[in-house]
Amino acid sequence: MAMKKVFVRTFGCQMNEYDSERMLALIRDEYVPCQEPKEADLILVNTCSVRRKAEEKVYGLVGRLKHLKKNRPQLIIGVCGCVAQQEGENILKRLPHVDLVLGPQAIWRLPEALARIQRGEGPVVDVSLRKEFRQPLIFPELNGTRPVKAYVTIMQGCDNFCSYCVVPYTRGREISRPPEDILAEIECLVRQGVKEVTLLGQNVNSYGRKEKNYPTFAELLREIARIPGLLRIRFTTSHPKDLDEDLMRCLAEIPQVCEHLHLPAQAGSNRILKLMNRGYTKEDYLAKVKRLREICPEIALTTDIIVGFPGEREEDFQETIQLLQEVRYDEIFSFKYSDRPLARATRFEEKVPEEEKARRLAIVHQVQEKITREINESYVGREVEVLVEGKSPGNPELWTGRTRTNHVVNFSGPAGLKGQLVHVLIEGCGQHSLRGRVRANN
Ligand code: SF4
Repeated sequence: MAMKKVFVRTFGCQMNEYDSERMLALIRDEYVPCQEPKEADLILVNTCSVRRKAEEKVYGLVGRLKHLKKNRPQLIIGVCGCVAQQEGENILKRLPHVDLVLGPQAIWRLPEALARIQRGEGPVVDVSLRKEFRQPLIFPELNGTRPVKAYVTIMQGCDNFCSYCVVPYTRGREISRPPEDILAEIECLVRQGVKEVTLLGQNVNSYGRKEKNYPTFAELLREIARIPGLLRIRFTTSHPKDLDEDLMRCLAEIPQVCEHLHLPAQAGSNRILKLMNRGYTKEDYLAKVKRLREICPEIALTTDIIVGFPGEREEDFQETIQLLQEVRYDEIFSFKYSDRPLARATRFEEKVPEEEKARRLAIVHQVQEKITREINESYVGREVEVLVEGKSPGNPELWTGRTRTNHVVNFSGPAGLKGQLVHVLIEGCGQHSLRGRVRANN
């Protein structure tokens, strides 16, 4: 029997990418992926509601699929992920051509939901939240593609309720995944040729705290590092309030754990941090950065910054700029604040006008670009370890990979390097990457 075709479009974070891979794996006996919505028998849009812009894009995309459904009524259209969780049945009211609404914790029931739709039981809405993180061990299809890197979810949800964020409402409360499932998944990935894993969770630093007899995150890292053949471990995201010295030591001492930490600051003003409900002050944050750099001098830091949070005045904004200049992050991800349904800050007064948010964002970019450039230039003339991911997308003559500190490097070298750790001499840099040539294989 000919296989049916599925088109998947993923918005948002790495957790959504991970979930999309699992959805494809769950239905791989019946569906093969295709590149165009018009070829598909099933269209899944995996959504993000963290920023308003991403949510608007989802509604735009799914709205445009209406004409496909009109021509082919048997086409199944599913909206999954955080917008599905947040909006539930409302999606069917707004977009009546949608057949399936599946929250992030319900994706494991995708085959069952499809079977119900195919039996003519009408649209399915499943946005139930789980109390424990037991999921079938479903592995993505790596055959043929042989990726060097993979994501592994170790927990989901969040208990922190930052006032601007919808995650605790869309992904539920924090649940850690059993360590034996995490280890089994990574062992399987390594058997298929994966050399680097990135452990995912909204706040990996608090892994295992709510469950009985689970390891701490630092202990979990030590166990993962024992898996033979796994060359590198990364993780994201770390909440600054939960960053402890044990984890700092893991970054310094476990050879497989790369010296890069994404530590979202969000703002540099204590007044704004309090309004954001972040649970730390600028001084707490800077003290942790100082201690981390004492324990692990090689560490590269990246962060998230929100500008124009309700009530953010010029003097608060200037404190964010000072924070950037003091910490000197390798890279930042900066955003204009936007109201999100359910998040508490939506009800805050003193909203910052859009044009002022845009002005502040432009200043943040300008300040950070200079810092990133200077850090990139400091690599020139140094030899760095790079895990080779494949050919450079911009130039097939070159290889591409990342340093332990997560900088992209494009470099020349002999054939057959994919998946290897090599030493690269850095000879130049741009704003977003380094350039070099291979010195010696490990
Ligand atoms: S820590 Fe804050 S920003 Fe991060 S997911 Fe949880 S509530 Fe959202």
